[in-house]
Amino acid sequence: MPELPEVAGLSAFLDTRLRGAILTKIQIVSFAVLKTADPPYSALEGREITGVQRMGKFIVLDAGGIQLAFHLAKAGWLRYTESPSPAVLRPGKGYIAARLEFMKAAADVAGAPGGPRHDLHVGIDLTEAGTRKSLAVHVVRDPQDVPGIATLGPDPLSASFDLATFAGILAASPQQIKGLLRNQGVIAGIGNAYSDEILHAARISPFALSKTLDENTVRVLYESIHSVLGAAVAEAVGKAPNELKDAKRSTMRVHGRTGQPCPVCGTTIREVSFADRALQYCPGCQTNGKILADRRTSRFVK
Ligand SMILES: [Zn+2]
Repeated sequence: MPELPEVAGLSAFLDTRLRGAILTKIQIVSFAVLKTADPPYSALEGREITGVQRMGKFIVLDAGGIQLAFHLAKAGWLRYTESPSPAVLRPGKGYIAARLEFMKAAADVAGAPGGPRHDLHVGIDLTEAGTRKSLAVHVVRDPQDVPGIATLGPDPLSASFDLATFAGILAASPQQIKGLLRNQGVIAGIGNAYSDEILHAARISPFALSKTLDENTVRVLYESIHSVLGAAVAEAVGKAPNELKDAKRSTMRVHGRTGQPCPVCGTTIREVSFADRALQYCPGCQTNGKILADRRTSRFVK
């Protein structure tokens, strides 16, 4: 699932490509993904995109008074092309949930060569693998009309997210730190992968209770949020959508690396599995060597 850094990369990429472009056509292939009815999605056609921004893990296209907001969810991704297929898409086949087409006038094409000038025809497909469809598209007048945006907690990279704000959030919450970090209503944009990475960088157990962290640990965690996300955003921005998944995978130190040696201390990276996901951590860096029990190992490990 794309998280804050990848969504920042996608959003920056789309902003450079689509700002000033006219949305000429929208096809919703899977109606399960369209979460709103008013305004109708067809009202987007013919409008100019005035900017693209990221809000949490949402990407929002501003079409001057109407906003298209989408969330790629667990198996969702975005495909970009400058030679869109003219085909009419049929429901129920393939991975494509929605297709958007844009036309950008030659004069607006950044770095248009001196040769023959032509309008740029751009296509974007929102895709989703797997059978459980959770990709969500919202067409609204205001981004705050999207429930998942209206309830977002502070953005961890915003200026207002200072150490005191973060300490206040932790002190008010009795939950495990791993769950808190990926709760979008508490802090926006961090998911399963980057919460593993942040906790590893901060050397904190994923099961530590947020309320009980001492002042120094809170500061280290706060700094780790910035260093991990900051480095990943720097890595992601400027990349094309098809390069972002690999970029994410290559920077992970513990997430998705069960059984491999920790790049910091060499201890074998462990995993705790849940019904629908798993977390990874380094016992050497994060739990003083203790192996955390999960539903598979709890019979054997105390
Ligand atoms: Zn380690």
